[in-house]
Amino acid sequence: MDLYEYQARDLFAAHGVPVLDGRLATSPQEAQAAAAALLAQGAPLVVVKAQVKTGGRGKAGGVRLARTAAGARQEAEAVLGMDIKGHTVRSVLVAEGADIASEFYLSVLLDRAGRRYLAMCSREGGVDIEALAAERPQALARVGVDPLTGMTPTLAARLVAEAGFEPGEVAEAVTEVVLRLWEVLTGEDATLVEVNPLVLTTGGRVLALDGKVTLDDNASFRHPGHADLVDRAETDPLEARARAAGLNYVKLSGQVGVMGNGAGLVMSTLDVVAYAGERHGGMRPANFLDLGGGSSAEVMATGLEVVASDPQVRAILVNVFGGITSCDTVADGLVAAVDRLGGLPKPVVLRLDGNNADLGRAILTEAAVDGVELVDTMDAAADRVTAIAEQITSTSSTEA
Ligand code: GDP
Ligand code: MN
Repeated sequence: MDLYEYQARDLFAAHGVPVLDGRLATSPQEAQAAAAALLAQGAPLVVVKAQVKTGGRGKAGGVRLARTAAGARQEAEAVLGMDIKGHTVRSVLVAEGADIASEFYLSVLLDRAGRRYLAMCSREGGVDIEALAAERPQALARVGVDPLTGMTPTLAARLVAEAGFEPGEVAEAVTEVVLRLWEVLTGEDATLVEVNPLVLTTGGRVLALDGKVTLDDNASFRHPGHADLVDRAETDPLEARARAAGLNYVKLSGQVGVMGNGAGLVMSTLDVVAYAGERHGGMRPANFLDLGGGSSAEVMATGLEVVASDPQVRAILVNVFGGITSCDTVADGLVAAVDRLGGLPKPVVLRLDGNNADLGRAILTEAAVDGVELVDTMDAAADRVTAIAEQITSTSSTEA
């Protein structure tokens, strides 16, 4: 999970990375109040910064300086609602402004290919670091960090020296920030921490003015507090609803809804659907949904509802291999789910195999649910469901 700058700033502060005071505001009024408080504290100026999970906010006009509270209000008015690279600005960080003498770059990240961490530092910050790395790689110092031994004061000092900092107070302060950033990375289970720019102020202080943090979601169980960092407005609403129901759902970009029991089976179903889709107008899977071991009407109904409410979905493939949960239980669940939903929202192709498959098929034939087609094999089911989806395309396009 990527964090907003203000969240990264909070984590920095918690681990001793030097930052300036700031407050989040979602309206021009709040921005004015925040600026007034910071100015009263003695801040010489304030900066109003768009909170969006993308870089280049400065260039897009999303970072503005103000010297008065009323000025901050005006800047917030301009920035809130702005679109930056497809992200709508819903909040701004109003922070104490810095008088910048120089801008540097600093980051520590997981280097998967190298099976280590990588720390990077440059005296040329505030710029597009990818461009710098491509055009003048010598300007970006890199030091590999062994995950077993971690960052050390010696290693941090070497990075800073290689970046071209002369021995002295600034080099020492930057080295200290490298060590603190390492604390953020390991303490929070992050895969990336980046500061661009790290600045030297005219007063001689070294400060992190912008921060980017990516947390490792696989470690979230170790950090109950990280749940509060999830941005509800940005989370896919279907994924959120499925998660609330305890279902494992991932939205994809195709037209064929896919549900099954067991992650492995569902993943191979995605492949089979994509493959069959090549013969049927390029139909592709619209989602991953693992019903898990459950087969109750409740789980089936929620699963069907979630998958069908994706407007891109034209037909649904339910692929079940009965094991501990037998096919008759799944069939009963499906019949009850359709009952609860008052009919099927979209055509369903069902493949039932494994434990009690005959019994399951008999239950479905008996119930004769409108819109459910039983197909014996996984390949045939994928072929059928992509054909139906393709048909729906051509029907709707001739109507249009
Ligand atoms: P980004 O463009 O999304 O990376 O946003 P940043 O937070 O890095 O801000 C972009 C640029 O705005 C920085 O490189 C600085 O030059 C400038 N900036 C940001 N905060 C301040 C500040 O407090 N004072 C001054 N003078 N400039 C700032
Ligand atoms: Mn930046």
